[in-house]
Amino acid sequence: MKEYDFLIVGAGLYGCVFAHAATKAGKKCLVIDKRKHAGGNVYCRDENGINVHQYGAHIFHTNDENTWNFVNSFVEFNRYTNSPIANYKGKLYNLPFNMNTFYQLWGISDPQLVKEKLDAQIKASGIDVPTNLEEQAIKLVGNDMYEIFIKGYTEKQWGKPCNELPPFIIKRLPVRLTFDNNYFNDKFQGIPIGGYNVLIDGLLKDIPVKLETDFFNDITYFKSIAKKIVYTGPIDAFFDYKFGALEYRSLRFEEKILEIDNFQGNAVVNYTENKVPYTRIIEHKHFEFGFQKHTVVTYEYPLAWQKGMEPFYPVNDVVNNTLFKKYEALKELEENIIFGGRLAEYKYYDMHQIVAAARVQSKIVLAKD
Ligand code: UDP
Repeated sequence: MKEYDFLIVGAGLYGCVFAHAATKAGKKCLVIDKRKHAGGNVYCRDENGINVHQYGAHIFHTNDENTWNFVNSFVEFNRYTNSPIANYKGKLYNLPFNMNTFYQLWGISDPQLVKEKLDAQIKASGIDVPTNLEEQAIKLVGNDMYEIFIKGYTEKQWGKPCNELPPFIIKRLPVRLTFDNNYFNDKFQGIPIGGYNVLIDGLLKDIPVKLETDFFNDITYFKSIAKKIVYTGPIDAFFDYKFGALEYRSLRFEEKILEIDNFQGNAVVNYTENKVPYTRIIEHKHFEFGFQKHTVVTYEYPLAWQKGMEPFYPVNDVVNNTLFKKYEALKELEENIIFGGRLAEYKYYDMHQIVAAARVQSKIVLAKD
């Protein structure tokens, strides 16, 4: 008789949502994580009243009312609206690309004239169906915007020339001919009041969690204690990198605690020039409209991932996706193991997609159980 119905490997958002659903269905779960805390990359550290997004900024947004109601059933969300600022050679511009940005860049306030200018640049590029990120970006916003806001930032972020990156990455960026600085088009967005840990604690309520526990230290034991395993770590690591390592981008965070109340006046400032080594500076208190006397800022430096580092972003180009498919085929041979989340599915998921995916998957698995 196995002690648990489900062993959940990884206490990130996917694992927590799955564990919650399974527990609610009367299943006995154990969640393990190799880190010192639960929450995966949404974990926040309390720095004297400021919730510090330790693993990069997380802003929840979704169009799906069901997902929104689900997360709100654990914690109320504030009215934070993501409106990043771009700093290019010391000049500031609004993001995403909207009439404010076009006015700041070209001094044109008439949307019709902006449209004509954009259309002319896009037409001159001769791009019909974009095959890479560079073409996709130029087709979306023309050459001027591409050079100033996209090329440098993207090449720093992904460590590759834009013409070697897949187009889908940039499809995330909206372009608007209205004066609207809201980064997301989604119906719902915000930050949990009190931070993401409240959401995680709510999901994990009454579920045993073992921290600083590495699945790979004793796979045989962990397989022996549960009927089913939900694995949310990197898929290549699960199969001992037998076809080679998938490529990820990692991040280095440089944090400063400053004895001033306001450093940059905005939660997110992107540095779009290639020669500035970091991609963005996050000032955490502004996610929650903080009035503390101090502030915490984090400089985000992208870097190539190597074994032993934290993998943050899957690099979903053709080579890696092909390799992933090989690992995916092995998954089918693993009985009683469910693979889910950004690392196990090798997919550039946002939080709302993770929540939705874990809810769908848990429903399917639990219906069969
Ligand atoms: N991006 C860009 N300039 C910016 C912000 C984003 O070129 O100022 C591009 C870049 O390629 C990035 C992608 O848009 O990888 C998605 O960025 P976002 O900040 O939305 O994603 P995150 O890194 O937060 O997941």
